[in-house]
Amino acid sequence: MENKKIKFRSTNLKSPAVSFEQALLKGIAHDGGLYMPEEIPRFSEEEILEFSNSEYHEIALAVARKFLGAEVPDEDLRRIVKDAYDYEVPLENVCDNQFVMRLDRGPTASFKDFAARMMGRLMQYFLNRNNGKLLILTATSGDTGSAIANAFYGLDNVEVVVLFPENEVTDRQRKQMTTLGKNISIVALDGKFDDCQALVKLAFADSDLDYLNLSSANSINIGRLIPQTMYYFYSFAKLRAGKADDQVVFSVPSGNFGDLCGGLIAMNMGLPVKKFVVATNENDEYPKFVKSGFYEKLVPSRNCISSAMNVGHPSNIPRLVGLYGGNMDEHGAISNAPDLDRIRDDMYAVSITDKETEAMISDAYKEHKLLLEPHGSVGWAALQKYIEEENIAKDQLCISLETAHPAKFPEKIREILSFDPELPPSLLGLESKEESFEHLPTTYEAFKEFLKKNYK
Ligand SMILES: *Cc1c(COP(=O)(O)O)cnc(C)c1O
Repeated sequence: MENKKIKFRSTNLKSPAVSFEQALLKGIAHDGGLYMPEEIPRFSEEEILEFSNSEYHEIALAVARKFLGAEVPDEDLRRIVKDAYDYEVPLENVCDNQFVMRLDRGPTASFKDFAARMMGRLMQYFLNRNNGKLLILTATSGDTGSAIANAFYGLDNVEVVVLFPENEVTDRQRKQMTTLGKNISIVALDGKFDDCQALVKLAFADSDLDYLNLSSANSINIGRLIPQTMYYFYSFAKLRAGKADDQVVFSVPSGNFGDLCGGLIAMNMGLPVKKFVVATNENDEYPKFVKSGFYEKLVPSRNCISSAMNVGHPSNIPRLVGLYGGNMDEHGAISNAPDLDRIRDDMYAVSITDKETEAMISDAYKEHKLLLEPHGSVGWAALQKYIEEENIAKDQLCISLETAHPAKFPEKIREILSFDPELPPSLLGLESKEESFEHLPTTYEAFKEFLKKNYK
């Protein structure tokens, strides 16, 4: 099959376009912008119809091939997606033609596994090809560190060091990182998340450490965006009635808008989406923007129970604005307005309060035996608002994304539903596994010494 080589350019438009490999290994463009494909490849209607008979990793391969086919041979891509996606993606019928897609069966029980596992394997692939190596440094307040650590676990040529504030993560979060070993090193600091972040930043800026080839596996890496288009194709293919003119509604619980941008790219590739319900918690800067046309970031962001969505200025917003013909820099300044009418056609954006989130966890379980955690509850509540407000027909296919496993929030579930959610296999046995991690004083000297001693 012929594959056109797709270049990636910065949303700030001031850096040269690069290959996927360069965009992946660099993370952020020189001009501070985010990489986006220069053109978005398309599937034909027939290709999308054929997905109905495919397994997840086969659909993932077809999507990856569209973007990377000219840079990575097919058999390598096939191996990478098969290895990354070795877990199930349940589609749960709740009522009428409404479904919940559970993206929580990966090793850390959050949808971030989809992106992190693919990015890790692609990085390893390019490093092996060039005999390169990387040392990934990342600071975590809990979830990102474990997703990165698990995604890179056991890969050649990539070492990972995760810094975490010892007193600010839960036992479960800590154990998801400290029981791995191999190429994953975990460092506990007697400080706060900001201290960890500051040490990582100092290390990136320290030319004494250039020899280590430091990288950040940043959440806005293009290598994390492309994998987030795949489950949109998968769920539509599995649930569509089979008619060529079907259209689907997706509800996406959103924080940094990476998940939503994956969906928007899928739509631009030909996926017939009727509407994206953009579900935020009380951080409502985006719903306000869609309504008024004025974008104002929220500083500081609001603390809600759907904690992974507590974002006052979503880092992927410049990508979204770019998809609608506008320009926004990384600080949120718009130099060229996007097409708001088209945004309003494609998206229904709504903010859900904590009170509504908790009520929906209770109602969904009572009415439908649907078990949701706070992030998924925001998505489901937003979908119900959309259906009611716009009088959506009962037979309309609607898919709401559940982005984490309820067992990651046992306290909240117990408080609302009075039982403990069952642990998924990935979290089973964690309690009894042996932990290993270093303690360091919160000084840059100690951290630098640690890096120089352990990584040659
Ligand atoms: C990160 C995260 C989100 C938000 O996803 P974005 O791509 O940042 O919008 C939602 N739910 C969970 C559980 C997450 O970890």
